Amino acid sequence: MNIGLVAHDAKKKLMQNFCIAYRGILSKHALFATGTTGRLIEEVTSLSIHKYLSGHLGGTQQLGAQIEHNEIDLVIFLRDPLTPKSHEPDVNNIVRICDAHNIPLATNLATAELLVKSLDRGDMEWREMYK
Ligand code: PGA
Repeated sequence: MNIGLVAHDAKKKLMQNFCIAYRGILSKHALFATGTTGRLIEEVTSLSIHKYLSGHLGGTQQLGAQIEHNEIDLVIFLRDPLTPKSHEPDVNNIVRICDAHNIPLATNLATAELLVKSLDRGDMEWREMYK
């Protein structure tokens, strides 16, 4: 499966720790991340990540385009709800695109853990039908 990963600045450490904790599962899948998020994950794990541009330079839109092309099966977007973002429309766009294409999306750690565990159980094999 193809997994999209994005973390706002306040959540980047959390994303690193999440990827360390679940690297065994994540390593079985193809990972796609916005630039800085991807680099920071690579720094602390042995995971290899396809990196888009940095989020505010268009990386979030690149992820959105890939979701629209049915090339992403699951998105983990650890967003910071407390700090307004200059590129807030991009964030809302990812949520909108995931809803439009019925793509599982986690925006917080609790849901991210549920999705990753369910991915490992094979609960997302229905996605193969769409490809
Ligand atoms: P970044 O992008 O991983 O390049 O920082 C995420 C974001 O949009 O904040």
